[in-house]
Amino acid sequence: MTARLLEYFEPHFLEEALVVLDRFDGRARALAGGTRLVPELHARLGDVAALVNLKRVADLHAITAENGAISIGALATAARLTNDPAVAENAPLLAVAASTLGSVQVRALATIGGNICSGDPASDLTAALLALDATCCVATLASGERRESLSDLLVPGGVALRTGEVLTRVIIPFQRSRFAYRKMATRRGFEMALVAVAILLESDGARIQRIRIAFAGAGPTCVRGLHAEQRALNANILSEDLDAVAAAAADYDCAPQTDLRASALYRKQLVRVLTRRCLEDVMRVRT
Ligand SMILES: Cc1cc2nc3c(=O)[nH]c(=O)nc-3n(C[C@H](O)[C@H](O)[C@H](O)COP(=O)(O)OP(=O)(O)OC[C@H]3O[C@@H](n4cnc5c(N)ncnc54)[C@H](O)[C@@H]3O)c2cc1C
Repeated sequence: MTARLLEYFEPHFLEEALVVLDRFDGRARALAGGTRLVPELHARLGDVAALVNLKRVADLHAITAENGAISIGALATAARLTNDPAVAENAPLLAVAASTLGSVQVRALATIGGNICSGDPASDLTAALLALDATCCVATLASGERRESLSDLLVPGGVALRTGEVLTRVIIPFQRSRFAYRKMATRRGFEMALVAVAILLESDGARIQRIRIAFAGAGPTCVRGLHAEQRALNANILSEDLDAVAAAAADYDCAPQTDLRASALYRKQLVRVLTRRCLEDVMRVRT
């Protein structure tokens, strides 16, 4: 087996990173925490000639909260999201989802940008961000920064980033609603979710004003539960209709795959059960 030589860069500025990524014509990869990319390189997946480590680009680490939204740099790690006071106050769903990601060691490295850009349908942070209506900021060498909603960026098996583009930050409107996050994984810390469900709910008594439901592990990408959300909005008194909302999620919103870890049928059942439990959680909590 012949060794593969990779060129390695640690730029200090975003523009430098974009220039290097552009120079390799699609054969350079951005490196964040490496928890996903490094195993791929070991497995010799993909045609990679260069790595551009983003860690020295200071702007990509920033977390700021102002004007009703929290902006989270792409290099914020799951450990930081779990413990950051601004995230805890303004996006607690994300903090909780981050606390379930992998092990302590993985959380210390895994970044929010890497979680999104991996495009894994079972990504915890991506599912939480979908429920939170997140917007992604993407930098390109040719045309500066563009903004795209996370749901538009996700495509089956990946993300719609063009060659050389870098996800710089994620913007989330302040979350003031009740929330729940539940996840089923066989070996916590070592494996991704079989299924995870994120729910946000705003209500006036038992009448729902706004609901967001999102799933990980339940389709070719992380997905929103649009049918389940509509079913919940149609219900007069949600507490009597939890089963119908959970059934809509499993029957219409999800298209899980069968793989070595679980069958599609089992995953659908998990969607139904976890959705029901999340709904019970948000109904219980009063703010
Ligand atoms: C043992 C183990 C357990 C895990 N458990 C979980 C889990 O429970 N839940 C979960 O969601 N994930 C889990 N993961 C997967 C992984 O840790 C996460 O997806 C992590 O967030 C990836 O981030 P990273 O910074 O390590 O990405 P990297 O590995 O550095 O990058 C991943 C991909 O994204 C690209 N990329 C990274 N940052 C950017 C950027 N800013 N702009 C453009 N492209 C970029 C890279 O080029 C690469 O293609 C686990 C991984 C391991 C090894």
